[in-house]
Amino acid sequence: MKSAWVESDAKLAVDRFGKEGVAPDLALRIYSTQLLGRDRRLVLHGGGNTSLKTTARDLSGAEVAVLHVKSSGWDMGTIEPTGFPPVRLEPLLALRACDKLSDDDMARAQRAYLLDPQAPSPSVEMLLHAFVPAKFVDHTHATAVLSLIDQPNSDELCAETFGGGLGFVPYFMPGFSLAKKAVAVFEQNPKVEGLILDKHGIFTFGETARESYERMIEMVTLAEGRLKKKTIVAAKLPSRLASAVEVAPIIRGACALRDACGEGAHRRFVAEFRSSDAIMEYVNGKDAARYTKGVITPDHIIRTKLWPLLVPAPEVGKLEDFKKAAQATAQRFVEGYKAYFDRNKMRAQGVPMHDAAPCVVLVPGLGLFGLGASGKDARITADLAEAAAEAITDAEAIGKFTPISETDAFDCEYWPLELAKLGGRSALPLVGQVAVVTGAAGAIGAATAKVFAKAGAEVALMDIDGKGAAEQAKAIGGSALAIQCDVTDAGSVQKAFDQVVVGFGGVDILVSNAGAAWQGKIGEVDEKILRESFELNFFAHQKVAQAAVKIMLAQGTGGCLLFNVSKQAVNPGADFGPYGLPKAATLFLMRQYALDYGADGIRANAVNADRIRSGLLTDDFIKQRAKARGVSEHGYMSGNLLGREVTAQDVAHVFLAQALALKTTANVTTVDGGNIAAALR
Ligand code: ZN
Repeated sequence: MKSAWVESDAKLAVDRFGKEGVAPDLALRIYSTQLLGRDRRLVLHGGGNTSLKTTARDLSGAEVAVLHVKSSGWDMGTIEPTGFPPVRLEPLLALRACDKLSDDDMARAQRAYLLDPQAPSPSVEMLLHAFVPAKFVDHTHATAVLSLIDQPNSDELCAETFGGGLGFVPYFMPGFSLAKKAVAVFEQNPKVEGLILDKHGIFTFGETARESYERMIEMVTLAEGRLKKKTIVAAKLPSRLASAVEVAPIIRGACALRDACGEGAHRRFVAEFRSSDAIMEYVNGKDAARYTKGVITPDHIIRTKLWPLLVPAPEVGKLEDFKKAAQATAQRFVEGYKAYFDRNKMRAQGVPMHDAAPCVVLVPGLGLFGLGASGKDARITADLAEAAAEAITDAEAIGKFTPISETDAFDCEYWPLELAKLGGRSALPLVGQVAVVTGAAGAIGAATAKVFAKAGAEVALMDIDGKGAAEQAKAIGGSALAIQCDVTDAGSVQKAFDQVVVGFGGVDILVSNAGAAWQGKIGEVDEKILRESFELNFFAHQKVAQAAVKIMLAQGTGGCLLFNVSKQAVNPGADFGPYGLPKAATLFLMRQYALDYGADGIRANAVNADRIRSGLLTDDFIKQRAKARGVSEHGYMSGNLLGREVTAQDVAHVFLAQALALKTTANVTTVDGGNIAAALR
């Protein structure tokens, strides 16, 4: 690999950060850290860290020696000055005299000597950075280096590859003992330009930011040069394989933890699919069951677990067999994880067992899935799994992938200081679930997508107005997905649901909301108008419900269909037949789904809303109606028993309540402020 250092960019960084009062050394520290962080061959998602030793003024104005070290939680690629809090160096160096440092004391040390008590906590590798005397210290988990050091003879390979340039530190868990061991190795030969941390990563040192950075690039390039291209022997696979779109919902369903939070309340995960040449080689290997066990570097374990779920290859036309096999292997994974926890639980330091579901799923012939509580988490896991695929394939080409032991891995997986990076699973009620909303560019659809996203779901916003859907998705942020879709067109619906499956792995909730109003006196209306209205206000609901149910059945974890049926479904308005008739049919469509799919855990409910400001009820139309009835606009909009205007937000909250009511199906909920004539019997 090549150095990405550009002298003019480095100067710009010095100028830019200088305006914020940042000294040139720290500005260059930030610049080269970003260079490292932007290359996925070096670090991923919060992995790696860097530091600088310099001086700073404390509150009294006295100049003190400090260590600026990357705080945990920052990504190196986007780090800013606040990501490098200064810590007093003297007391950190004094800690070297201790024989041991408990986790509690380590956590105290991370905060006790910060110059600014409000600053974020420095990395758990802070002490190693402090003990090594170099001014600039860079640390990465470079993939090429991992291929070399996750080997039984890693010490020999390193000596051969790096000569005497790097010291070799045997594996220790990150923290105090590793820091002490690393500095002891350094002191045996203070001329080394860096250190290899066996089964973990690489450090380089320098008197300038550029020197330390370019030594990292030089050493990683040496590691790359030592690797060889040799293809792993592949297992025999069926000649025709099912597609990722067919397989994803089956995988997602098999990995969900059924009834984990009460009867019918499954713990689900979002699934992100990946495939590439390196991934294919990795998942197709004859010995995949052996070499996929273990992490390439210790901090991956909190997101990937110690081993992935390896399912059989999915043959075309045999999806039912694949589903059974996937469920059985997922079940064995859960049992295996519980047994692993039981074997090691005396080392868990009181941390309860994490959920036992797989985080990474390997599908021979197709690729891999990263699972997570959110789209973002699934993406991070998939990135780490992809890096593992690359590092392990290369490790197998030059020797035998040999990761840290099970107990060492367990210690990291249950280390409170490492787990602090994750912040725990969100308590929001729809975490891990995927909701599709149609008509999502309109008032009710947009409000509903927003409310579901706030409740923790990943949302796909479908609308014939793709731009409008994209605007609403942008306003929601995160992984919200906008899809242009004509719900009256079967091909468009199929394509849109495929996109949701590719994006999130499946569907748990459908809010079938798209609709439009047609008018006409029923005895005189042109049949064409009636048919048009039926296409959108009835058949389109059937099309999207059918597509969603197919995915829900593949998942086997139930689901929820929600329909917007309007007051017209039960209480016809004069000349509104073309709108009300298909809506009445959609109300019964909901009941039919509730009846036919209740045994599969799929619920179906409807909202009967009235008089909501939206594309159907525009401000001009409200003005007209109010005038025709001789009331004020406010009077018209709040003309109900409660005397309150009903909003899109109110409808959205009722859809959410229906999605959360796990024992409620075939229900119609009225959201109209009270209208006795439209009340259901
Ligand atoms: Zn590290």
